[in-house]
Amino acid sequence: MPIRLKLTIMFLAVALAPLLLISFLTFNNYKDSLKDTRISYLQNLTAFKADKIETYFARLKEEIEIAQAFYNIKKNLPILIQFVREPDNPEFIAAKKILDEQLQRMQSILGLFDIMLVNPDGRIVYSSNPKHYPKDLLHLLHDPQQKAFTEGRNKVYFSDLFRNNGEGNRLGMLITAPVFDLDNAFIGEVVFEIDMESISDLMQDVSGLGNTGETLVGKKIGSEILFLNPLRHDPDAALKRRVAIGDKIGFGIQEASQGKSGTGQFIDYRGKQVIGAFRYIPSLDWGLVAKMDTDEAFVDITNLKRLVIISLIIIFVFSAIMAFSVAQSISGPIKKLTKGAEEVGRGNLDYKVGTDLKDEIGQLSRSFDKMTQDLKKVTTSRDKLDREVVERKKAEESLKRSNENLEQFAYVASHDLQEPLRMMASYSELLERRYKHKLDKDADEFISYIVDGAKRLQGLINDLLAYSRIGRIDKPANEFDCNLVLNRVLAGMAKTIEENKAIITHDNLPQLVGNENSFVHLFQNLIGNAIKFHAEETPYIHISAKKQDSEWVFSVKDNGIGIEPQYKERIFLIFQRLHARDKYSGTGIGLSICKKIIETQGGRIWVESETDKGSTFYFTVPVKEGVRYG
Ligand code: ADP
Repeated sequence: MPIRLKLTIMFLAVALAPLLLISFLTFNNYKDSLKDTRISYLQNLTAFKADKIETYFARLKEEIEIAQAFYNIKKNLPILIQFVREPDNPEFIAAKKILDEQLQRMQSILGLFDIMLVNPDGRIVYSSNPKHYPKDLLHLLHDPQQKAFTEGRNKVYFSDLFRNNGEGNRLGMLITAPVFDLDNAFIGEVVFEIDMESISDLMQDVSGLGNTGETLVGKKIGSEILFLNPLRHDPDAALKRRVAIGDKIGFGIQEASQGKSGTGQFIDYRGKQVIGAFRYIPSLDWGLVAKMDTDEAFVDITNLKRLVIISLIIIFVFSAIMAFSVAQSISGPIKKLTKGAEEVGRGNLDYKVGTDLKDEIGQLSRSFDKMTQDLKKVTTSRDKLDREVVERKKAEESLKRSNENLEQFAYVASHDLQEPLRMMASYSELLERRYKHKLDKDADEFISYIVDGAKRLQGLINDLLAYSRIGRIDKPANEFDCNLVLNRVLAGMAKTIEENKAIITHDNLPQLVGNENSFVHLFQNLIGNAIKFHAEETPYIHISAKKQDSEWVFSVKDNGIGIEPQYKERIFLIFQRLHARDKYSGTGIGLSICKKIIETQGGRIWVESETDKGSTFYFTVPVKEGVRYG
């Protein structure tokens, strides 16, 4: 996964996770508290309305109990019963008038349709409502169950509700109570015909219940619940609409009408999800429900949900853009760096990452550029060095090759030249001896040049032949004492040593096995050079040897002019001379002879030197088994 995507996801997770959690918790808290608020409101509403209904009916009960004890009723009811069929009878008229005065006032104060009195047969003998009076007279009470009269004989009885035809089909109800005369004999009943409009109004008051909320009352009749008031969503429901007990719908009213109280979310009579409170009204055996559609009750939650979702989307988009740009600002330079590393890896050391960011990544990119620059410098100098090494090797190779050719040529030439030169030397010496001072002065001088030249040439030819002979002529190896060889050499060089006032010392040297003459040449050359290349002060030369592992390491140390480091290898090649001939005479063959001698013996030769301080020539000779050393 690319780093940019990783960082984006990480930033988003860090930014959004707490936000989502907080939103979720806040939202749930709000939802719960809103639900609690709504439910407690509905609960209060049911309590309030139930209380109102109960108070209303309790008051009517109190009023009918007062009415049943009215002296006027106890006195005049028997008169009315007696003369009911003689409406013109003065006693009847007087009795009715007295009752009218009292009961009509009571009717209007209590807001009743009617106050009636019935005879012990249950027939109406008095009605306070003049409109009812003529048509109701001597009729039975018109409650639907026809229970009002019989139940009212012994106690105050509340009938079921019914539609009152005489009052424009309004909802009505009867309350009956027995009337006893002064001797406590049953003489009939007093009946209140209640206008249920006030209860309906109370029930239909939907203030505080939004567009869907309502309160409703119901009563259990058999295995069904009958709705007692017009419903908000079904105005004709009163006394018509029913729900079967146990049905899914109308849960609240079912529970309340069966004597239970509670709250919750349930399905109402329409089959809609609602929240509500339900309550039983014991005095009337009614159930009361206050409820509201969940959709509406929780509309704030829905709105909040929408708001939260929109906010989250906006925050998400914003965070995503932010996270992306932050991730980009980190991954961009890293990508640049990666590309830089690839480019540099491909060898493009001129590539620059070059970000001018002030942060750590900016610093890194600048360090990277600096590193590339340094690398370029190092690589350039290393390449140069490599080239130089290669060139030097080539030069050395070609020098070696030409040296070999030269060696070959020298051998052939010197061999062929030896004879004519010897003749030239001896004849020129003869000429010198015979004609010196006998010819003119110039001739003497010319002859001496020829003699010198021939001698020098002979020296060179001898050196060359000596060089060529090493390794060619296999003389048998013998055991010899190095101290004696050295003394022989020093004796041979006595004149040169003396002329140069050289001081030569040596340690005790070992016995060796090899070609003794070769070691004579070797010491001659090394000591000869040490004297020849001396500095201003007295030449001091010391020869020593020590055993290291399986070889002897000899050293010839001087305090001469020294050798520059770059020539340390070259001087061992044939004809390599570092100085002008006029200053130090020589052929450039001596050290190459030494090298050849030593290598033929299976050893190595090298020099350690410091300009103007002196040189030490080292050579090794392998230790031979069975030889006494020291
Ligand atoms: P030659 O002595 O004939 O010049 P060599 O092969 O003996 O030739 O020496 C090669 C060169 O090495 C010399 O020309 C000289 O420059 C240098 N050399 C040899 N020995 C010494 C020494 N002991 N001190 C300084 N330079 C030396």
